[in-house]
Amino acid sequence: MFDYLIVGAGYAGSVLAERLASQTGKKVLICDRRNHIGGNAYDHYNDDGMLVHKYGPHIFHTNSFEVFQYLSQFTKWRPYEHRVRADLDGKLLPIPINRDTVNRLYGLNLQTDEECAAFYDSVAEKLEKIRTSEDVVVSKVGRELYEKFFRGYTRRHWGLDPSELDASVAGRIPARTNTDDRYFADTYQFMPLHGYTRMFERMLDHPNITIVLNTDYRDLLSFVPFKQMIYTGPVDEFFDYRYGKLPYLTLEFKHETHDRPVYQPAPVVNYPVERVPYDRITEFKYLTGQEHPKTSIVYEYPHPHVDGDPYYPIPRPENTELYRKYKALADATPGMYFVGRLATYQYYNMDQVTAQALAMFKRIVTGQTATVAGATTMATPPPRRVVRPAMPWERDAAITAVGANGGASAGGATAAGAGTGGR
Ligand code: FAD
Ligand code: UDP
Repeated sequence: MFDYLIVGAGYAGSVLAERLASQTGKKVLICDRRNHIGGNAYDHYNDDGMLVHKYGPHIFHTNSFEVFQYLSQFTKWRPYEHRVRADLDGKLLPIPINRDTVNRLYGLNLQTDEECAAFYDSVAEKLEKIRTSEDVVVSKVGRELYEKFFRGYTRRHWGLDPSELDASVAGRIPARTNTDDRYFADTYQFMPLHGYTRMFERMLDHPNITIVLNTDYRDLLSFVPFKQMIYTGPVDEFFDYRYGKLPYLTLEFKHETHDRPVYQPAPVVNYPVERVPYDRITEFKYLTGQEHPKTSIVYEYPHPHVDGDPYYPIPRPENTELYRKYKALADATPGMYFVGRLATYQYYNMDQVTAQALAMFKRIVTGQTATVAGATTMATPPPRRVVRPAMPWERDAAITAVGANGGASAGGATAAGAGTGGR
């Protein structure tokens, strides 16, 4: 009998598996329907011997000492400060927009933060309320810079105009008055020295942890005995899309290896012009520090409105509203914990998911069964029809495919403290 079945071996699932196994002696079965651990952070050596990130560039950055310290148990680090250039009709300019971006774009010679701030002030639109991603950018740097750097990129990536997306999306990218051209400004900026997958292998290397790959959890339910479940997949899928599909954005990754040492002059080049079909090109050597006569790159092609692997929740009011309904179902499902980017429908970075999972672990050990998604109470609530696989304890209680109702939310564990907005 396993104490926990954990669905998904990404950050959320692996952190919880590691904590439960090593700190509380619980027996954990962690499964993933992919053929590897690490979730979207998975990296591997390709046929040419280059370390690449299968699901696009993953750069670790955080303001949370707790998260950094926790992960440091499983990896050594390589200091790495990420830099990105935006390709504006062949001209490569620093993004986030900074003083150099403005000077080079307009042929200006702004010398100080104050001069640059005055420039932004002269072009910024004064808005009473910042609601959307358009608002957040035009209120900082004005419409022209917004249209050059944000509008096209965002429309292509999300399949939505920035005016249809929450301010938090474009709000991830600051506008700077200095010449700092780092993509992130977080306190801790490092890459795992031997890659993410090696780090995950060390996290999950514990006698109390059993890993099953290529396996959907639903295929385990009828014969694997376990007491509680931690779910890190898409929350709407868990409930069989009862309220309709929650939109997630899917991407296609096109990997290439080139027979030359360097492909482009920056780790990532963004393409803000909407007619270009991909968002950005990443050259992995910059990220990994690997020395090799060849070089590997990846293009990211967004496919908004297409059903595919879910990579990004889409932050906008109607989706948040729909997620709330799923969260209410999650809150009312006994013996279950919902954690991670897909299960809690949050546009979280790796450090934020790690923080969320660590917070969840604290709740579990202190006996608070409240989940990130809300409450997970084991009390017997009035049954309510929910179309999803029945959990073993529900089958025992002859409540086939019936979820539960009730259980006051004790407030969710949060990713507070991790590095958001640290740019
Ligand atoms: P995931 O990594 O998605 O793991 C969930 C796992 O659950 C998956 O492996 C999936 O196969 C499995 N699963 C789902 N359903 C089932 C099922 N029914 N049965 C079995 N298994 C199932 N963050 C950063 O901090 N820095 C970055 O630079 C960065 N870049 C990114 C670039 C891209 C293109 C993307 C898409 C994300 C990026 N992120 C980045 C975000 C980062 O990937 C996530 O924060 C993190 O990987 C989320 O971890 P997770 O465990 O919540 O989910
Ligand atoms: N963005 C943009 N132009 C850029 C970079 C980002 O318009 O050159 C917007 C876009 O909407 C994007 C969001 O800012 O989805 C967040 O960018 P980030 O680089 O953080 O995205 P991620 O790495 O998560 O894909």
